Amino acid sequence: MKKSIAIFGLGRFGEALVKEFSKMKVEVLAVDIDEEKVNAYMNIADYAVCANATDEQVLQKIGVKNVDQAFVSVGTDVLASILISLLLKGMGVPEVWAKAKDGNHSKILEKIGVDHIIRPEQESAKRIARHSLSSQMIEFLELSEDYSVVEIKATSKIDGMPLGKLDIRAKYGCTIAGIHRDDQFIISPAPEEVFYTDDILIIIGHNKDITRLEKEVI
Ligand code: ADP
Repeated sequence: MKKSIAIFGLGRFGEALVKEFSKMKVEVLAVDIDEEKVNAYMNIADYAVCANATDEQVLQKIGVKNVDQAFVSVGTDVLASILISLLLKGMGVPEVWAKAKDGNHSKILEKIGVDHIIRPEQESAKRIARHSLSSQMIEFLELSEDYSVVEIKATSKIDGMPLGKLDIRAKYGCTIAGIHRDDQFIISPAPEEVFYTDDILIIIGHNKDITRLEKEVI
């Protein structure tokens, strides 16, 4: 059975979510209080419903309890966002994601038990800042404030060098967790593993150490 996803609020973020999920093999239910917005999504989402999602009976009627994952992308109307999230959690939706407008909104959503809080502007600013400082970085995943897993493309500087010779863990405190080379994926590479230009290195470490490693070695 297809995974079923409900998106509440078709503002800029909600719209983008509906469009992305519609390209995947999931069933998409899009809900907004504004009829015009709902009409625009009739042909994109599997179901598009015009409803006030702060009303529990309305949520029951549209079958929210059968949804696997819900996104509350009502950002501006904080009270509506809190109420919808509370109702979805209370109705037993297994995974509730909600967009927060600011830190206080985020704290309340956390208290309600929202499973994932999204701060799109903050998250994209972070990504852009990290990418702008690094020409070789392809992707990064923040593990905490200070630690990340990153994908960095190897330059010709390390072409032909074995991992052991670079002494990365001792000198930089980072771990090379894997190497992605064409279709090959080398997990926990051995010290004798040799790097080639354009290898994608998966590195775990402190952000400062990763930056230093990238600048000085890769
Ligand atoms: P963005 O910043 O992503 O554009 P907005 O907060 O501006 O997000 O958009 C929120 C959307 O949620 C709007 O389309 C609005 O009509 C819808 N919305 C607001 N309150 C409710 C509600 N109670 N039920 C359903 N949809 C709502």
